[in-house]
Amino acid sequence: MGKKFVADAMLGKLVKWLRVMGYDVRYQSHYPSGLIDRLVRNEARTLLSRRLKTVAGYQDAFLITADSVREQLLEMKIRGLLTLGRSSWFSRCLRCNTLLKEATLEEASFNIPDYVLNEKVGKISVCPSCGRYYWPGTHRVRMEKQLEEWGF
Ligand SMILES: [Zn+2]
Repeated sequence: MGKKFVADAMLGKLVKWLRVMGYDVRYQSHYPSGLIDRLVRNEARTLLSRRLKTVAGYQDAFLITADSVREQLLEMKIRGLLTLGRSSWFSRCLRCNTLLKEATLEEASFNIPDYVLNEKVGKISVCPSCGRYYWPGTHRVRMEKQLEEWGF
């Protein structure tokens, strides 16, 4: 199990990449008062924020200082926050953070393009929460290459 995070509203891009790598990251564009507090305390999440003032209010928080996603990920890696291996990549819904489950070909056939089925690209996953499908296509290969370039 990797570390669990909650990211403040300015970190949408970083959140996407953390979820690509399989990290459990809570994120929304607006947090009602007290929610971040509860997520840090009750769910043992590390708060990620770019605001020093925000970070200062929590015991388990990490200040993101870099501007680019690559450097933000590197900051986290250097501090030992990113411990998941490659087998965790693409295990989580990028939209809603839920763990994916494997989809049967039958359910998938109604929900994904024909060419994906015809080319038998491999394991197809579905998000049990929002219903989004995922498969190892060119988009995924691009993201894998990007992560490798960044040293993951
Ligand atoms: Zn989802």
